[in-house]
Amino acid sequence: MIKHERLLRVAIVGSGPAAFFCADYLLRLSQPCEVCMIEQRPTPFGLVRDAVAPDRMNIRSVSQSFERIAEHAGFSWFGNVRVGRDVTVSEMQRYFDAVIIATGASTPRRLDIQGEELSQYYSASAFAGWYNGSLDHAALHPDLSQPAAVIIGAGNAALDVARLLTTPPESLAASDISSTALRVLRESNISDVHVVARRGPLEARFHPDELHHLAAIPECRVVMHTSLNDSNAELSPGCQQLLEAYQRLVQTQQDKIMAKRRIHLHFNLTPFAILGDDAVEGVLFLDASETPVHIACGLAIAGIGHYGVGVESVPYDPERGVVPNSQGRVLDAATTMPGIYTAGWVKRGAHGVIGANKPCCRETVQSIMDDRDQLLSETREDSAGFVALLKERGIRYLTYRDWQQIDAAEKQQGIQQQKARERFHSTETMLSLLTTKSAGQ
Ligand SMILES: Cc1cc2nc3c(=O)[nH]c(=O)nc-3n(C[C@H](O)[C@H](O)[C@H](O)COP(=O)(O)OP(=O)(O)OC[C@H]3O[C@@H](n4cnc5c(N)ncnc54)[C@H](O)[C@@H]3O)c2cc1C
Repeated sequence: MIKHERLLRVAIVGSGPAAFFCADYLLRLSQPCEVCMIEQRPTPFGLVRDAVAPDRMNIRSVSQSFERIAEHAGFSWFGNVRVGRDVTVSEMQRYFDAVIIATGASTPRRLDIQGEELSQYYSASAFAGWYNGSLDHAALHPDLSQPAAVIIGAGNAALDVARLLTTPPESLAASDISSTALRVLRESNISDVHVVARRGPLEARFHPDELHHLAAIPECRVVMHTSLNDSNAELSPGCQQLLEAYQRLVQTQQDKIMAKRRIHLHFNLTPFAILGDDAVEGVLFLDASETPVHIACGLAIAGIGHYGVGVESVPYDPERGVVPNSQGRVLDAATTMPGIYTAGWVKRGAHGVIGANKPCCRETVQSIMDDRDQLLSETREDSAGFVALLKERGIRYLTYRDWQQIDAAEKQQGIQQQKARERFHSTETMLSLLTTKSAGQ
C-alpha cells in the first residue's frame, strides 16, 4: 500500500441514515478520514425525522446513535446547502477525494389515474410529513371530518397512516407528533379506515409484525375482507409467517365487535379512479374480474412507494428511481465515475427499514477503501476552501452546533407542551432563532 501524507476526505450528500452509517464506517477505519455531510435541510436525520411515525419513538431514537457519530473529531455537517443548486458535485470534487450521493428516495410514486389532483388526496409520505411537522408538509390541511378514509397500498408506510388515524390521540400526546396534527386527530370523525392492496394478502409488503401492531390498537377492530389462502400449495417461509400473522389477527379481533373504529383490509383491488368534484368523495377499484368496487371516503392516501432523489450532473435511472452503480461506485452507462459513490435508498431503491441500509453502506465504504490509493493520488484543494466557497456565494449554511441549538429549542418547546418535542415548521424560524441566540451571546 502507498503511504499518503494526508487524510482521505469524503463528502456525503444527505444526512439520513445512509449518510450516518457511511460516516460511521469511515470514521472507524484504522486509516482515519475526514467526513463532511452536506444536507439541504437545516436539520439532519432525513426520513427518521420526517417520516417515522410518532408512535414509534423507539425507532426514532436511532438518531441518538447518529448524534454520537457526529461527536467524532473528523466529522463536520453543513445544513441548508442543496447540492446541485448551491454547489455542484464537480465543485465538491475539488476539495473531497470521494463524494457519496445518499439523497434517499422521498419522491412518492404516482398512481397515474384520474383524480390525483383532487383536494384531500395525499401521498403517505406527505401525510407522515404532516403529522411529524416536517418543513415540506406541516402546512397540509387534511380534512378528517368524514367517517371514512381510504389508504391505497400495503407497505409499512400505508399501515403507519392507518395506525395514526385509528390510534386514540391521547396515547400520542407525549410523543413528538406535531401539536397541530394532534389537535386535528383529536377532532377526527374518522371511524373506518380502508387499507386497499392491489395484490393478495400473502403478497403484502408490510412486515408480519405490523399486523400485530394493528391488532393492539385500543378501541379499534381490524376486519379482513379477503379470505386467506385456502389452497394447499406450499408457502415460502415469509408467506407462511404472514399467513400465521393474519390468522392470529383474525382470532384476536373477534371480541372487538363494539370497537369505535375499524381498519378494513382489502386485497386484489386495482385502483381505477379517485372520485370527486373538487375534493375526494370516494375511490373506484376494479376487482380481479374487472367488476367496479366503490369505497366512499373524504380522504384518500396512497402509500405505493418512492423514487430516488437524483442530483444534478450525477447519472440517474428514472425507471428504477436510483443512481446506477456497481457496489456503490456510480456508473455513467457502463463506466465508473471516478470519486463518485452512492449509498442508501437512492442506491438500491426505496425499500428496507433503517437497519437495512447498513450492509449497503458497508459495501460502498469498502469500494472507497479499495479505491483509496487512486483517490489520494489526485491533488485537491484544502477542505477549508469548501467553506470559503459557501461563504463567497452568500449561502447561509448551518453547522452541527447550530443544529444542536435548534434541537434543544424544539425539545424545550416540547417540555412546555408536555411532549417530547415541538418542531419548528420553517427554515426562516430556525435561522432567526440562531441569529437571536448569537446576538445574545
Ligand atoms: C413514510 C415512511 C415511514 C418509514 N418508517 C420507518 C420505520 O418506522 N422504521 C424503519 O426502520 N424505517 C422506516 N422507513 C424507512 C427509512 O426511513 C429509510 O430506510 C431510510 O430513511 C433511508 O435512508 P436514506 O439515508 O437513504 O434516505 P433519507 O432518510 O431520505 O435521507 C436522505 C437525505 O438526503 C437529503 N438530500 C436529498 N437531496 C439532497 C441534495 N440535493 N443536497 C443535500 N441533501 C439532500 C434529504 O434532505 C435527506 O435528509 C420509513 C420510510 C417512509 C417513507
